[in-house]
Amino acid sequence: MVLIYESDPLDDENARGKFYHVCRGRVDRTPLAVAQDDRPYECGQCGIELETEDFLMALQKGSV
Ligand SMILES: [Zn+2]
Repeated sequence: MVLIYESDPLDDENARGKFYHVCRGRVDRTPLAVAQDDRPYECGQCGIELETEDFLMALQKGSV
């Protein structure tokens, strides 16, 4: 698991959740913006690249 999507159940008005990178098994609590097609999110810690489709998958499934 490298990316999770969480929506805030206390925040009904704003149903949009946040994306978090799971780095080496630990959740980095810095919310991520969805990566743009030409600019994947690169983690300097574990070296992973998260692309737009990874974010979309996390959005659908809750995590990838
Ligand atoms: Zn990482």
